[in-house]
Amino acid sequence: MSSSEKTFSDLGLSESLLRSLDDLGYEKPTPIQSASIEPLMAGKDILGQAQTGTGKTGAFALPLLNSCNPKLNAPQILVLAPTRELAVQVAEAFNSYAKHMKGFHVLPIYGGQSMGQQLQHLKRGPQVIVGTPGRVMDHMRRGTLKLDSLKALVLDEADEMLKMGFIDDIEWVLDHKPAGSQLALFSATMPEQIKRVASKHLNDPTYISIAASHTTVESIEQCFVQVSQHNKLEALVRVLEVENTEGIIIFVRTRNSCVELAEKLEARGYASSPLHGDMNQQARERAVDQLKKGKLDIIIATDVAARGLDVERIGHVINYDIPYDTEAYVHRIGRTGRAGRQGMAILFVTHREMRMLRTIERATNSRIAPMSVPSPEIVAEKRLSRLGEQVAKTLSGDLDFMKEAVAELCNQLEVDTDLLAAALLHKVQEERPLQLPAMQERVRDGRDKRRDGRDGGRRMPQNMGTAESLKDNPDVKMCRYLIEVGRDNKVGVGNIVGAIANEANIDSRYIGQIHLYDAVTTVDLPDSMPKEVLQHLKKVRVCGRQLNIREAGEQAITDNNSRPPRRRSGGGNDRRGNGGGERRGNDRNRSNRSGGEQRRPRRPKQES
Ligand code: AMP
Repeated sequence: MSSSEKTFSDLGLSESLLRSLDDLGYEKPTPIQSASIEPLMAGKDILGQAQTGTGKTGAFALPLLNSCNPKLNAPQILVLAPTRELAVQVAEAFNSYAKHMKGFHVLPIYGGQSMGQQLQHLKRGPQVIVGTPGRVMDHMRRGTLKLDSLKALVLDEADEMLKMGFIDDIEWVLDHKPAGSQLALFSATMPEQIKRVASKHLNDPTYISIAASHTTVESIEQCFVQVSQHNKLEALVRVLEVENTEGIIIFVRTRNSCVELAEKLEARGYASSPLHGDMNQQARERAVDQLKKGKLDIIIATDVAARGLDVERIGHVINYDIPYDTEAYVHRIGRTGRAGRQGMAILFVTHREMRMLRTIERATNSRIAPMSVPSPEIVAEKRLSRLGEQVAKTLSGDLDFMKEAVAELCNQLEVDTDLLAAALLHKVQEERPLQLPAMQERVRDGRDKRRDGRDGGRRMPQNMGTAESLKDNPDVKMCRYLIEVGRDNKVGVGNIVGAIANEANIDSRYIGQIHLYDAVTTVDLPDSMPKEVLQHLKKVRVCGRQLNIREAGEQAITDNNSRPPRRRSGGGNDRRGNGGGERRGNDRNRSNRSGGEQRRPRRPKQES
């Protein structure tokens, strides 16, 4: 049996882990899990090239938990992660996998969290620690985190940690790792410095890379919608409303989400059925048959259950959850565009998964075009026109009694027919309102308004100011940069964030304050950004202008930028005092932020 066909139990995971996986509704290991679990269980070191969304956390958490002793109250597994957000996420994953392991504890530790609280939790002897490098190093130095019982150390998103300037801290922790303990290094990219760390510290590692080349079919139009996890369902409903669809297959990751989404869609009036590996053969066949015959329009499926599914009338594949790898993507979208028909594949991508999207594009050598979530107005238009079609069908029937009833009601209520018609329409649409509420982009909206800088562009100031630290990652040293594109070029903060996030491969959480001026813009970025990234960004063009990025302190600005400021149409002063277009540092989580992690600012050395 090839490793890709193995089930979790074939891989030798303990009963308690298998129970948790069953609770979570995982059907089979993802490719990175198939490749990593066995070598890690055999005690080998691993060098894995994989990004978020591939199931990488399970790939190291499951095998390491398998050999973790819950009766021993001392750190046995240490995971280093670039941000507190990821540290918490990884700790949560450990918790859910270890749900049936009695006496198991995992502790996330990161800067900005109260030291006292961390010390108290550390005293209880959690078996797994997931932390940001600076804070972990801090505790190790104080002697409050001892690695005597450590069996394995994991570096998660090593390239991100490098970008954040954590390389020296990582090296320090690696130098203090007990001899004989395992090391697993995961990184989406392999810059020189990571390769150097790998070759110095990994002991005869198993190399794992899940990137393969696959081709997609031309009869399938591919696009993606960037949407937060929180807004996915709303976005899906809007897409379903406006796309002219026959059969639709919606892919999700787990059995549980499959059932959940089918229920949610049913509740919203869409005839849909789940299709997952735990349904018996008969139930599965019934669902597929109903889809074929047009008795059902939507199937929500997991990868396992949809294998080989061949239904001509599937016009759309919606990847509600991003697939684990390119192969799964190609397989999923291949369910449409069959028998000479045109198909459409829509991929939902959260911000963190954008990198995975680029990988799929590269590996399939195809362009996945951005698509926006249909606005409430467009949805209303569609719903109204569909309602119109339904009403049109009844116009030819016998309406004499209804006409009399209308006259009677107008009389009784003392209203004219327009108002009565509006009231009746209101009643008819109650279950499927014509007007949708706006989507709650929780933080983004507020931030975007500020980012927009609607209160006018600003002229070039004498002083560009200094970089402000990120609210969520106060330990990341920031630097203020200047780029040669401004409001005169009709640039929006979104264009800048998008370009920098994509071209520099920087998570937008690390893009801090942005101030738009008429001809230039300042943007706060991590101070530790490697030189080659800056070199690349210099040449990137946004709104037709080369960014020519440099530190804002270096004031050599071209003639074009130093021309007199554009007059603002409204005139008057900017009363906020902080100027125009502005983006605040990540303010998603304002809780408990005393005493940031102490990390020496440094710029990573460049390898030649
Ligand atoms: P990760 O790449 O580790 O961030 O995982 C991405 C998502 O995939 C998480 O929501 C996991 O819960 C989910 N996931 C991981 N492994 C599996 C699996 N074998 N089957 C289904 N979902 C999974």
